[in-house]
Amino acid sequence: MFKRAAVLVMSCGALLAGCGQDSPGDEEELISNLVEAGFPARDIQVLGDDVYVGGDAHVSLQASREMLQTEGSAEQYRTTNLVNTGAVTRICLNPTATFTSYTRLNQGLDQAIINYNALGLCFSMVRGPNTSCNATINVTTMAGTGGSSGFPSGGRPYNTIRIGTGLNTASLDVVEHVITHELGHALGLRHSDFFNQASSCGSGVNEGAAGVGAILIPGTPSTSYPGGSLMNACYPPSTTGEFTSTDIIALKYLYGC
Ligand SMILES: [Zn+2]
Repeated sequence: MFKRAAVLVMSCGALLAGCGQDSPGDEEELISNLVEAGFPARDIQVLGDDVYVGGDAHVSLQASREMLQTEGSAEQYRTTNLVNTGAVTRICLNPTATFTSYTRLNQGLDQAIINYNALGLCFSMVRGPNTSCNATINVTTMAGTGGSSGFPSGGRPYNTIRIGTGLNTASLDVVEHVITHELGHALGLRHSDFFNQASSCGSGVNEGAAGVGAILIPGTPSTSYPGGSLMNACYPPSTTGEFTSTDIIALKYLYGC
């Protein structure tokens, strides 16, 4: 029995940046950009005014344009969509009042911040509200027991993660896992089993052909297994909420100082 970390957002939240602002023409361009970038049509989902890939990764029009700015290998795609550590050294995680009213979610956020700061990356994360940061990720809520996020754009992490309030009765390890996972997307990590979600979920799709839109980070395995990565599409109920050894290799490779 595996839990799907990805749950789709069915409606527009007031805090979701850009929500409701795209015109139908923009949406057409966005989808066309994603197809051109190599995402298979079945992995592109439109919900309301938002477009998602991989089940829980929101893509803005700007981010889709950046995917096409570098031609050729997926390696470049990935590089374009990372956080620029030359400009971002401190990331504020600003939870909404509603988020902090959920005790377990609030505890999970602290644990997720500890997970990242323990790695000694080029940037640190601090719990807000706080404005003394180069980048901000708003932390808000959604219905259900999953989460949603997006990919970096303009050298900044994605600006909002949403965590299901249904997780307030889950174990702290599970909440820590889901928040750390959604922050991973905001920093540019794809699902470790993007090529076959069935690996961790039991069933699922290939989110995109290997080599397109997802590079294998040096030093990490090209295969996946349940519990092998916190960035798998689904998590086992026995998750510890901690990074695996290969998650740590990946993050240190991308953002180590
Ligand atoms: Zn995910």
